[in-house]
Amino acid sequence: MNRIEALRSRGISCALYDDPINIRYLTGYTGEGSLLVLPDRAVIITDFRYVEQAQRQSPFCDLERVGADRGANAIIAEALESAGIHDLPIEENIVTVSRLRAMEKALPGVHLTALPETVLEMRTVKDEGELDCIRKALAISCQAFDDLLGVIHAGMTEKRACAELNHFMNLRGSEGNAFDTIVASGVNGSLPHAVPSDKVIEKGDLVTFDFGAKFGGYCADMTRTIAVGEISSELHAIYDAVLEAQLTSEAAVKPGAVCRDIDKIARDQLEAKYPGAFGHSLGHGVGLFIHELPRLSFRSETILQKGHVVTVEPGVYVPGVGGCRIEDTVIVTEDGFENPVTTPKQLIVV
Ligand code: ZN
Ligand code: ZN
Repeated sequence: MNRIEALRSRGISCALYDDPINIRYLTGYTGEGSLLVLPDRAVIITDFRYVEQAQRQSPFCDLERVGADRGANAIIAEALESAGIHDLPIEENIVTVSRLRAMEKALPGVHLTALPETVLEMRTVKDEGELDCIRKALAISCQAFDDLLGVIHAGMTEKRACAELNHFMNLRGSEGNAFDTIVASGVNGSLPHAVPSDKVIEKGDLVTFDFGAKFGGYCADMTRTIAVGEISSELHAIYDAVLEAQLTSEAAVKPGAVCRDIDKIARDQLEAKYPGAFGHSLGHGVGLFIHELPRLSFRSETILQKGHVVTVEPGVYVPGVGGCRIEDTVIVTEDGFENPVTTPKQLIVV
């Protein structure tokens, strides 16, 4: 069963998709345009530049080409009319206000409704082909980090270290970064999403690297915090607390576990030692997009199942002192989890 058939079997037999990641997931097509799913066929609507690409990537879809005489909305209007459809679910969080207004005008007899998150839910459970891409993206990331350890030294700026890491990921075969690489040294470490700066990495700094390669469209996500020379006992204690929280919460990842219970393991430990210093969720799903479902948050009642891919990334952030985060991307297996991230988690000192 292809994924469009799987979508229909989940009750979505008519819908318009504009999110390029959802379109890629459903059809394999990676160009621009929209996907109109109808009860008996699926139509990719695109322009001249992508016609051949769409035919190659998605031979099982029909193709409609927009042109000067016929825009996407006219194509949608015709297709709905000939199928006798008057309700069209759309992606409310993707369609812009201007596009919505144009559609309302072009489709006067059609009721535009909100699509449920069916594709997002389908995307949470990865098949073997998807898992292999994620494993490969993580392997590239680990190799690149190893390359970085060979060149990083006190005196290098955060921006330079970031550029080196990105370059090594590209050399190792990444298709591009899964997200903007984070490098946070010394006091900048207290910013969970620090942007690499001109700050020079100094002896005595903890340096956090949060990064990921991409392979086959799939993202990797990992974080390691390293020490440059001798660090203070205060920073050592922070590192040890984060490492313990990471190891114990990750060990709880298995089918049947409830996401919020896993978050709670790390949260209770860190809250006892560093109240208020772990302010974000423990983790998130990873796939074609860097942040997917399920979320490992204190709110999420989602039950983990085989094929889910989640990050486990506790951190402690102390303003004026620094911070630490350690993150793996792990795959939920039949009876536990697989961790493709091979970079050690014991403190690395350079
Ligand atoms: Zn990350
Ligand atoms: Zn992450």
